[in-house]
Amino acid sequence: MNIILMGAQGSGKGTQASVIGPRLGLEKIATGDLFRAAIAKKTELGVKVKSILERGDLVPDELTNAIVHVRLRDMARQKAEGTVRGALFDGFPRTTGQAEALDRIMAEQDDHIDVVIEIQVPREDLVARLSGRRVCPTCGSVYHIESDPPKTPGVCDKDGTPLGQRDDDMPDAIRRRLALYDEQTSPLLSYYEGRGIVRRVDGNAPIDDVTDAILANVSEEKV
Ligand SMILES: [Zn+2]
Repeated sequence: MNIILMGAQGSGKGTQASVIGPRLGLEKIATGDLFRAAIAKKTELGVKVKSILERGDLVPDELTNAIVHVRLRDMARQKAEGTVRGALFDGFPRTTGQAEALDRIMAEQDDHIDVVIEIQVPREDLVARLSGRRVCPTCGSVYHIESDPPKTPGVCDKDGTPLGQRDDDMPDAIRRRLALYDEQTSPLLSYYEGRGIVRRVDGNAPIDDVTDAILANVSEEKV
């Protein structure tokens, strides 16, 4: 079984991926992790990724797909040994080009994507969640005004410095990032919707309920 988990920044996708993966015996495939591993192992692809990231550029689809390809070939072995049941994709594919490449890679292994889960949270709720972050300019401690507030509002627990906000965490910057996400993912969702494998869950529910909703959608599929 292979699942793609989708959701904007702040949707709780990462949290859900770390819960769902072990529950279903699925190996999490996140390109950020794969890049770091390839760089650490100094593989040929890793060396290329390293120089691209050091320049501050985006890793091109071709290279990203190649790295995923290598990982899935390794995973095919793990599946044959019975240690893994499938993949849980987190943050990949990000473009239709990547989705097409993923289909080709999967087809090579007589495999396919079973279900795409989108964790939905209304835009303004995401803005509220993401813009609540506060940072201490002195020690770098990170707080959240709702989920992880300092003991005294507005000041760092450790050193009493007034907390500030990063430019990235300002509502306008967040809205721009979320708009970019929608722009990228809506063609991707239509790509999978054409196959009738997209399921949506309400990401505004408590974390455990979101997990249950995802598991319920997955178990409807033939495992
Ligand atoms: Zn501090």
